[in-house]
Amino acid sequence: MDKKELINSGKVKSVYTTSNDDEVIIEFRDDMTAGDGARKEVMDKKGSYNAIISAKIFKVLEENGIKTQFIDLLENNVMLAKKLDMIPIEVIVRNIATGSLVRNYPIEDGTKLNPPMVQMDLKDDDYHDPMLNDSLIQALGIATPEEVEFLTKAALEINDVLSKFLIDAGIILVDFKVEFGKDKDGNILLGDEISPDGCRLWDSETLDMLDKELFREGKDSEVMDAYIEVYNRIIPDDEKVI
Ligand code: 5GP
Repeated sequence: MDKKELINSGKVKSVYTTSNDDEVIIEFRDDMTAGDGARKEVMDKKGSYNAIISAKIFKVLEENGIKTQFIDLLENNVMLAKKLDMIPIEVIVRNIATGSLVRNYPIEDGTKLNPPMVQMDLKDDDYHDPMLNDSLIQALGIATPEEVEFLTKAALEINDVLSKFLIDAGIILVDFKVEFGKDKDGNILLGDEISPDGCRLWDSETLDMLDKELFREGKDSEVMDAYIEVYNRIIPDDEKVI
């Protein structure tokens, strides 16, 4: 399968058309960004680690009945996926309060959230991804109330499956962001990626961070070791390619 035309170059991934109009090729680059792209570094093999971790997680989700855009991993950092018309909403699920939640609201860092909290942010760097509510989503015309209900339910299902999968690898899923899109028949599928870039992952014994938060905090030299630790824990030895 060959890359044809570049149709979208995001902060860390590039999307290309293929000879099949219903499919795209997603190339995971080695870029790492923070602060809506204000800070950017290149990290050796980061694209490959994220693509392989994402592919594994998408496969686990598919096995548990959650529909995703993932088709195949063509190269370590290149994914073949169903073409989606992306919904510009970042669906965030939180199991433990931290990050922007504790910066913006009177809730103590580390508070367990039971039931988990679902939050929707507008995916728009120019506006710094502001938080949405049902009325705003309707006013902006980005999803119907039925679609919002679907996204909420799907995100909570993903949380259930992924929390269990990761805890078996000694990782606590603190919170994460997912994005969805519509295929050519209008079905809503999970898209984008699920990797340490968009999740808070803590070691279940030490509570050490194993995700991009290290980079956000300026601990650049520790980031790749954390990503590699996640890779080593969730990819079985006979599936390891790096
Ligand atoms: P917070 O709102 O606390 O900054 O982030 C909550 C969760 O969503 C974290 O796991 C964070 O990684 C993820 N998240 C929120 N917004 C973004 C975003 O724009 N890009 C990425 N990669 N992850 C995000």
